[in-house]
Amino acid sequence: MSGAKTCRQCGTEVALTRLERVQGENAGIRVEIEGLPAYACTRGHRRFLAPDFPLRLIERLLQIDGAFAGPHAVKKGLIRKHYHCPDCGGELTGESSTHASTRHSIEIHQSAPFDVALTVPLFRCASCERDLLHPPEEVRGALMEAAGNAFRAANVPPG
Ligand SMILES: [Zn+2]
Ligand SMILES: [Zn+2]
Repeated sequence: MSGAKTCRQCGTEVALTRLERVQGENAGIRVEIEGLPAYACTRGHRRFLAPDFPLRLIERLLQIDGAFAGPHAVKKGLIRKHYHCPDCGGELTGESSTHASTRHSIEIHQSAPFDVALTVPLFRCASCERDLLHPPEEVRGALMEAAGNAFRAANVPPG
């Protein structure tokens, strides 16, 4: 534990700041973070509050209800992936015109709360006209990539 924190890239002192808007996408999933707390030096280098901050943030996103509560499409096929409706069994061939979206206030490591908005794509079952989330493991994978892209875009290297 050191006293004054310094920038790992240029050695000048860092201060706590809030990043205005951090956003990233992957496979149709969009993550938008408003007011992400981070350290920044006067030259604009940025860093997370703690090395495990991005991991804890992603874990928290994965626990958000609504975005991932289902119902989920069922994936079949090893080589060519097909997606099926869990209710009627019909093959899902098209995306829904709507997306599911949620907005949550999150705190990590007693940080100031910040807002996270998630938008996830949906399948539309043509026979029973239900909107379905993509399979859970695909949603999780894409969300992790989207968050990683958001951090990269905001120039916050992990750790
Ligand atoms: Zn710096
Ligand atoms: Zn169906």
